[in-house]
Amino acid sequence: MFIARNILVEIKDKRDLKEHISKKFNLASEQIESIEIIRRSIDARKRGRLKFNYTVLCEISGNFKSHPELVKYSPKPAPKLFKKKIINNPLIIGTGPAGLFAALSLVEQGFSPILFERGKEIVDRNKDVMDFWENSILNPESNVQFGEGGAGTFSDGKLTSRGKDFFTSNVFDLLIKFGADPDIKVNALPHLGTDGLKKIVLNIRKYLIENGCEFHFNSKFEDIKSENGRVTKIKINGSWLESETIILAIGNGARDTYRMLSESIRMESKPLAIGFRIEHPIDFINQAFYGKNTDFNVSGAATYRLTAKYKERGIYSFCMCPGGKVIAASSGFGQVVTNGMSYSLRDNNFSNSAIVATLNENDYGTGIFAAMDFQETLEKKCFNPDLPYHAPSQNAEDYLNNTTSKKVRTNSYRPAIYNANLNDFFSKSINSALKAGLYKFEKTAPGFIKNGVLIAPETRTSAPVRILRDREKFNSIGLDNFYPIGEGSGYAGGIISSAVDGYKVGKIFQK
Ligand SMILES: Cc1cc2nc3c(=O)[nH]c(=O)nc-3n(C[C@H](O)[C@H](O)[C@H](O)COP(=O)(O)OP(=O)(O)OC[C@H]3O[C@@H](n4cnc5c(N)ncnc54)[C@H](O)[C@@H]3O)c2cc1C
Repeated sequence: MFIARNILVEIKDKRDLKEHISKKFNLASEQIESIEIIRRSIDARKRGRLKFNYTVLCEISGNFKSHPELVKYSPKPAPKLFKKKIINNPLIIGTGPAGLFAALSLVEQGFSPILFERGKEIVDRNKDVMDFWENSILNPESNVQFGEGGAGTFSDGKLTSRGKDFFTSNVFDLLIKFGADPDIKVNALPHLGTDGLKKIVLNIRKYLIENGCEFHFNSKFEDIKSENGRVTKIKINGSWLESETIILAIGNGARDTYRMLSESIRMESKPLAIGFRIEHPIDFINQAFYGKNTDFNVSGAATYRLTAKYKERGIYSFCMCPGGKVIAASSGFGQVVTNGMSYSLRDNNFSNSAIVATLNENDYGTGIFAAMDFQETLEKKCFNPDLPYHAPSQNAEDYLNNTTSKKVRTNSYRPAIYNANLNDFFSKSINSALKAGLYKFEKTAPGFIKNGVLIAPETRTSAPVRILRDREKFNSIGLDNFYPIGEGSGYAGGIISSAVDGYKVGKIFQK
């Protein structure tokens, strides 16, 4: 078996992939006995003449000339993990991707874990989120961050992964088993949309319950007791539970839980990036990044990834949502948080992305919660008590000129935006970096500034702390039976890497 890379095919080209492989590698067509596409990305360097870039597994017979992009394939072996024997079913706190995939992994190991989730199950959670978006009524326990499926439930469902190592591949297979389109394994930029994610989360719950797992919603983890380097009890909704193994999968937004844990657990502050969402009409983004002659039915709505540097700061686009919406994603009273969401068809009239600048200790100071406090302060500053959970907004060119927009461009954010000068929300140095980024992005996509509207703040790009854990055994340092996983641990970020972290940690346990 061989792996053939960089097979470029114009998206309009309807010829068989075999023909392209045989031409590129000088092979007779009969020599190519089988083909399996393992990756398909879009090469958009020439706008209007987009190409698919394929990586293919193929069986080839006979002799052929060697080529640096045609190499022998050897499957990646399962990495060796530390193993730990336990007797009782572990408790899992949080039902985001990390908690759910830890549970799936534990079921494969013969356990039936018990899951606790502070938020509500999906259908009731959906009602709370709609009430927030339509009427500004926030439920601090059931919202875009908290509830069944975790923070990604109301998202674009981008399944970004750096590579497909052994465990990542297992996670993709499980997503397909529970309802995702098998194309997610091939597409370099797969996404599910919020509708796809909700369906999968419900299927996972059903399967876990059939396998003896218990789900407890509206069940908040509130406290912890430890003795001799082990957690002995955890408190859920006021009642203490004894436990042999606890897996903590709380995501990046549970500030109250972080604060509570800091009394018994070793944590450190983690650098953050903050900024705003920029939104454009989808047609502008499609044409600016893929070109107007593109068949968007084949390519899908255009995505982009932009980076810039300004002095010591990096500036980059993050969590780009083509054909999506900018959403209100608060989880605390009096705090404005924005994020991005889309449906599987990505067919809304707008495309948005976060534009963020990296921060450092000069911005937020030192101390475990310095970055988290900085985040929270900005979210509070953006809250206007007369217009609760409306987001401060400004046309991009007015932000650059430091003038409040008289009329902000039409945008997708609900409940609503209010006109503001975003220069007032960030320090001079952060504003300079964000502006340098926008000027650079304008060079890549002329019109990026003129057509863009900014909606602030984007603060939840990653966890603001790391819960220190053992590199090999994955337990929290100093607590033998307590396992922080997923985004909240500070060792993962995004749906896939959080799910993979949970799945991997689940694999260490044996009966
Ligand atoms: C709107 C939005 C869009 C996003 N879009 C994408 C995207 O397209 N692609 C991508 O890769 N990532 C995206 N993300 C990020 C992604 O959702 C997270 O990286 C991922 O969900 C982290 O998984 P997790 O399981 O570690 O934590 P979470 O998904 O945050 O889950 C943690 C769970 O723990 C629960 N919890 C917290 N504290 C307690 C407690 N004390 N007791 C009981 N339960 C508790 C929470 O209610 C929550 O359900 C998005 C996030 C948001 C908010």
